[in-house]
Amino acid sequence: MKIGCPREIKPQEFRVGMTPAAVTEAVARGHDVVVETGAGLGAGFTDEDYAAAGAGIAPDAASVFAAAEMIVKVKEPQAAERAMLRDGQVLFTYLHLAPDPEQTRDLLASGVTAIAYETVTDARGGLPLLAPMSEVAGRLAPQVGSWALQKANGGRGVLLGGVPGVRPANVVIIGGGVVGTAAARVAVGMGANVTVTDRSVARLSYLDDIFMGRLTTQYSSAAATADLIRTADMVIGAVLIPGAAAPKLVTRDQLSTMQPGAVLVDVAIDQGGCFETSRATTHQDPIYEVDGIVHYCVANMPGAVARTSTQALGNATLPFLLALADKGWRQAVQDDPHLRAGLSTHGGRLTSAPVGEALGLEA
Ligand code: NAD
Repeated sequence: MKIGCPREIKPQEFRVGMTPAAVTEAVARGHDVVVETGAGLGAGFTDEDYAAAGAGIAPDAASVFAAAEMIVKVKEPQAAERAMLRDGQVLFTYLHLAPDPEQTRDLLASGVTAIAYETVTDARGGLPLLAPMSEVAGRLAPQVGSWALQKANGGRGVLLGGVPGVRPANVVIIGGGVVGTAAARVAVGMGANVTVTDRSVARLSYLDDIFMGRLTTQYSSAAATADLIRTADMVIGAVLIPGAAAPKLVTRDQLSTMQPGAVLVDVAIDQGGCFETSRATTHQDPIYEVDGIVHYCVANMPGAVARTSTQALGNATLPFLLALADKGWRQAVQDDPHLRAGLSTHGGRLTSAPVGEALGLEA
């Protein structure tokens, strides 16, 4: 199959759909890969790296879209990209169609067979193509939070791990899923005093087991949150209620009960945020202050570490990409119900029931 990997054109997107390692694998199986010039630069991969892996280098996006039977990307196609998609072509990328009627309309009009990373499932009920980005955001959260805790950034001037004779910082993580667990791993590693809360007792048991006494677990309730934030130096919001906006778990009134200069890191900001005072920020201007509390609310945290994120995403997408290329999309989704769960549009028809429900369209 001819596989095409264009350069991402959404602002501030530095990741790329295929790594040179993925190209090597596809080429070894007899597929042709064409990569747009400069596509990997944001993630530290040069045209020479791709050429050495066996890819052809195309001068522009138009040549990639024209040549490829399957387009592999990171972000949802932008309007200019959508205009280049066609019937019979496969698009494999993040789509997030439910809140995006304009993109859905264009994909249907193009006739493209679009498979969304974010709705591909696994045998344990997880979302294997979303999880790597949650791992990245989670591990990044204590890192950015500890930077925000520094005096010059408006924080209370507390070192996460303390020093001998001085207590470490108190870190509270609300939500112990993929993000929360990854955040806990790093916060514990930095020597903080960590508490994780969750509504799932099974999840808390799991965390209690794997961290073997290195953190405290607490069932999540309004009273427990109110109590914990009073002495917290950093609170990391990592909740998710699938298909719903994040619940507001800390109100503006509660900020005055916190220690001045404490930091809120709202990883759930991409679902609306779990603190009442959260509003989305960017990597250029990541923090702001409300009532003396520093807020960090960057909606695309993995973009800060584009190279790591590209490699993590590439590892997760590769088996599916190879199945699609080896077997053709029809056989691949027939053989794998988890990949089938990602199928969103085909030949002008919407094939994702949740997207249909969200947009009031027939699926
Ligand atoms: P997940 O489903 O693995 O974990 C969410 C956890 O929240 C679950 O364990 C659930 O039981 C728990 N939860 C639900 N309601 C709760 C409550 N009231 N109190 C405490 N816990 C509660 O999800 P995830 O992959 O860890 O993602 C967490 C959030 O991070 C999502 O909103 C996701 O969209 C977001 N995210 C953001 C970025 C970013 O760049 N900002 C990147 C990746 C993920």
